[in-house]
Amino acid sequence: MTDASALPGQPRGGPIDGTGTARAVCVLAPNPSPMTLDGTNTWIVAEPDSPLAVVVDPGPLDEGHLRQVIGTVERSGRRVGLTLLTHGHWDHAEGAARFAELTGTAVRALDPALRLGDEGLAAGDVVTTGGLELRVVPTPGHTSDSLSFHLPADGAVLTGDTVLGRGTTMVAHPDGRLGEYLDSLRRLRSLTVDDGVRTVLPGHGPVLDDAQGAVEYYLAHRASRLAQVETAVEAGHRTPGEVVAHVYADVDRSLWPAAELSVRAQLEYLEEHGLV
Ligand SMILES: [Zn+2]
Repeated sequence: MTDASALPGQPRGGPIDGTGTARAVCVLAPNPSPMTLDGTNTWIVAEPDSPLAVVVDPGPLDEGHLRQVIGTVERSGRRVGLTLLTHGHWDHAEGAARFAELTGTAVRALDPALRLGDEGLAAGDVVTTGGLELRVVPTPGHTSDSLSFHLPADGAVLTGDTVLGRGTTMVAHPDGRLGEYLDSLRRLRSLTVDDGVRTVLPGHGPVLDDAQGAVEYYLAHRASRLAQVETAVEAGHRTPGEVVAHVYADVDRSLWPAAELSVRAQLEYLEEHGLV
């Protein structure tokens, strides 16, 4: 591992590294980019008195990062008991097999292709490793296999790429679907309204202390983008590329390929609902 990714004067990992809640702490992976923000957040989650920790999203295949995660767990007097994945994108899951090898743990994920060991993850499952309570919340839309993990003891939810700590996320068409994504945001909103969730522990970017505000912002942002796409189509912009250039003119061009996937998802949604 090098410090090459750190900004001048900024400690490696930046301000996100080491933040979290009473039971969750972030180890930031050294893979910053326009798509990954500061890098991937690997989360270590454990009950205060438990010798076992759960690791969510080991991150990219970066030996130094994986060993740093293990070192952080060991310095807290614990060992890794289980590895979970929020979804299969490489920046979250690529290092999972190597991490499982280093720690001797199983990997649980919604997608059977990502699992190591006998157990998957499904809606309603509760992970209880080391006395922890992590409730599996299906949140498809960014990808079809996206999950969130509700940590009721801390009033927190780990959202992977469904809600980010900064900016908004993409709907990765055709695997990701906008209708499912909006349903997932509403599911997360009900966690904030009905189940005491206050804190978002995202897959990228800083911890959010106003979970409900964040989810409301995401819903409003999606509605406004959808209206913009609808208007662009009505104005004669037909191809996804034309719609991106029109609607995402204010967004850095390095993000336009991702924006185009979101636009394709939005065009599909509008067509399915007979709106264009
Ligand atoms: Zn992703």
